[in-house]
Amino acid sequence: MTLNEYQEKAGETAVYPDRGNNLIYTTLGLCGETGEFAEKLKKHIRDKSVSHDDMIRELGDALWYISQCAFELGVPLDEVAEKNLEKLSKRKAEGKLKGDGDSRSTTAPTRGEVSA
Ligand SMILES: [Mg+2]
Repeated sequence: MTLNEYQEKAGETAVYPDRGNNLIYTTLGLCGETGEFAEKLKKHIRDKSVSHDDMIRELGDALWYISQCAFELGVPLDEVAEKNLEKLSKRKAEGKLKGDGDSRSTTAPTRGEVSA
């Protein structure tokens, strides 16, 4: 199954208000599902009560919302994946895989360099 095929199938179960013009709804859903994924991991660390399948199901819920966010943005999920890999490949080639932020500019000041 390709990511686009997944996105199309997932769309068959997408029932929410103003579908096709509701990025807010899908973004909030994605935040909720990633929180649920983190919660499962926390419970696993605490008392080993979460199975591997539980983790996979929550990750799938997040994937569903990612696919719907892409739909709301009007882009195929394959394109999201391809652009992400392009970005990461470029960063790797430039030696910028470490750190944080979107631009990873080598000229940006570090926290210690910024004064009030
Ligand atoms: Mg869930």
